[in-house]
Amino acid sequence: MRLLITGAAGFLGSHLSDRFINEGHTVVGMDNLITGNMDNIAHLMGHERFSFVKQDVSNHIYVAGSLDAVLHFASPASPNDYLEHPIPTLKVGSLGTHNTLGLAKVKGARYLLASTSEVYGDPQVNPQPETYWGHVNPIGPRGVYDEAKRFAEAMTLAYQRYHGLETRIVRIFNTYGPRMRLKDGRVVPNFIHQALTGAPLTVYGDGSQTRSFQYYSDLVEGIYRLLLSDEKLPVNIGNPVEMTITDFAHAVVEIARSDSEIIFINPEEERFMDDPKVRRPDISKAKRVLNWEPKVNLADGLAQTVDFFRSRV
Ligand code: UDP
Repeated sequence: MRLLITGAAGFLGSHLSDRFINEGHTVVGMDNLITGNMDNIAHLMGHERFSFVKQDVSNHIYVAGSLDAVLHFASPASPNDYLEHPIPTLKVGSLGTHNTLGLAKVKGARYLLASTSEVYGDPQVNPQPETYWGHVNPIGPRGVYDEAKRFAEAMTLAYQRYHGLETRIVRIFNTYGPRMRLKDGRVVPNFIHQALTGAPLTVYGDGSQTRSFQYYSDLVEGIYRLLLSDEKLPVNIGNPVEMTITDFAHAVVEIARSDSEIIFINPEEERFMDDPKVRRPDISKAKRVLNWEPKVNLADGLAQTVDFFRSRV
């Protein structure tokens, strides 16, 4: 296959590019580099089956030649990033999705949208199955991301129903691993950075909020299977092992063999507003239709991630 991956210089886009290159496919990577980083794909530059275009997919995009698949992964993804870039976040989820769908349509390519567990908002159902409609505040600070992704899903389904486009939607739950930005503000890089530098780990609020963390390689496997599958409606891909943020902080301290203390702070209101109190994927659908489940446990995944960050602190 010849694929376009938007957001190719990001954390997930670069790992996906690696996977498709390693499977023998040809990848055109696209990124505007507002949160992506060329270091993530430096090893692919010069590869005969990889090319890179620096472009903002929220503007009209042109790709020469045939395409068999378009994977739309471009978007700021950490709360800090989308609070800092609210309008580009809304644009890439709306205009960027429209442009990439239009491109997939003219090329006759299959389309895969990177959606998110944020479509469930601050959920009132736990774990979250794909059939749950969510509980999102459209005008809160997270609304710029949540609503952009909800619109993106609606637009993708409209292209499927109205234009007959082959589309797939992955709802990605919290994912971590090498190539996350040390300062992207999310809990995994924050805690690891703090643990490695001896700084206190900053738990927001009382730390009773929960998340379920998956290692990037499990996600990449799920996305690969989903693209090749016949499943046309959204599929959750995440690790169902749920823990409180306080327990997660203890896990990081232990795995990084750190002396850091754990402190509880109240971040600025914008940052913490609408912070989901629980999050855990129901992955029965992924098991059923993709024969997929996560393989990497938290201790192993965190150890790999700590090693990656250690070389960068
Ligand atoms: N969090 C925290 N300390 C930090 C960063 C994040 O306690 O230094 C919390 C945050 O409030 C949220 C959880 O960790 O409850 C996950 O936050 P993250 O930004 O990683 O992503 P989210 O799942 O909210 O999109």
